[in-house]
Amino acid sequence: LAELTTDVAKAAAALRNGKLVAFATETVYGLGGDATNDEAVARIFAAKGRPQFNPLITHVPSLAAARELGVFNDVALKLAEAFWPGPLTLVVPRRPCCPVSPLASAGLDSLAIRVPGNAQARELLERAGVPVVAPSANPSGRLSPTTAEHVARGLGERIELILDGGSCPIGLESTVIACTDDRPVLLRPGGLAVEEIAAAAGAPIAEAGSDDAAPASPGMLASHYAPSVPVRLNATDVRDGEALLAFGPDVPVHAGAMRNLSPRGDVVEAAANLFGMLHELDVLKPKAIAVMPIPERGLGRAINDRLRRAAFQ
Ligand code: AMP
Ligand code: MG
Repeated sequence: LAELTTDVAKAAAALRNGKLVAFATETVYGLGGDATNDEAVARIFAAKGRPQFNPLITHVPSLAAARELGVFNDVALKLAEAFWPGPLTLVVPRRPCCPVSPLASAGLDSLAIRVPGNAQARELLERAGVPVVAPSANPSGRLSPTTAEHVARGLGERIELILDGGSCPIGLESTVIACTDDRPVLLRPGGLAVEEIAAAAGAPIAEAGSDDAAPASPGMLASHYAPSVPVRLNATDVRDGEALLAFGPDVPVHAGAMRNLSPRGDVVEAAANLFGMLHELDVLKPKAIAVMPIPERGLGRAINDRLRRAAFQ
């Protein structure tokens, strides 16, 4: 059962050790994990029971820390300076050296990032010394938690630690704005009014999916990472010129490139490796990537969902 604490140093140490820690922000409680730790990120999806890998928001203590991870254009800088710390998430291009797990970006080359308004949360991030991904700390499909008690009720049996920071004043998720080109696009309405954002940007905010906005939200396939070569699912053999993305201990013998998502057949480990390994095989430009069957249980469902989309294109 998750331990309840008010000890920020202890929570920071737990994050650094790869543990999952729920903490209060001004919006809702987040389920935090070290964003640079593939397995910690994978365990967040497992704990929430999310059937899909939607990208997560990375939390940092300052704009300076954010700029080490992502590329901020003029609009992004303006908005960050106007509203951070606060309930605004900016989606920006990842820096080439960005250490955040590709799973946190669901394979996209962009990163959602924010500086939370809650002082305890910023102290936690400061002390953790690593960027922290944190979706809302509730099981997928249930109400977002605004007290430590809500978190304990929903996830108490699946996480290690809850940092009690009282109740969340806003109670709504952050507003998400994409700043991947010059025109800011609203991806999700939330705790900060779009009118206020438009005023600070000095420009109207387009809505995702409208004619004047490029599709930018996850699930809209155009911007989703897919390998540049065909993907062949449920492969039990490897054909000429193919690379192999294996799973489990029984791997068909072949001479070409190979990565194993989880030699021991663990779906959480496989999720942690999925985007990184797809990318590694993709850059080798094989004729196709053959993917062994992944069991449809736990995170296997989200892995298969992502692979089916990759194979479809
Ligand atoms: P949550 O972590 O549950 O609060 O949700 C994060 C929100 O940010 C979701 O609505 C995502 O769709 C959105 N988001 C996160 N990262 C990206 C990204 N790289 N591109 C587009 N949308 C993103
Ligand atoms: Mg949520």
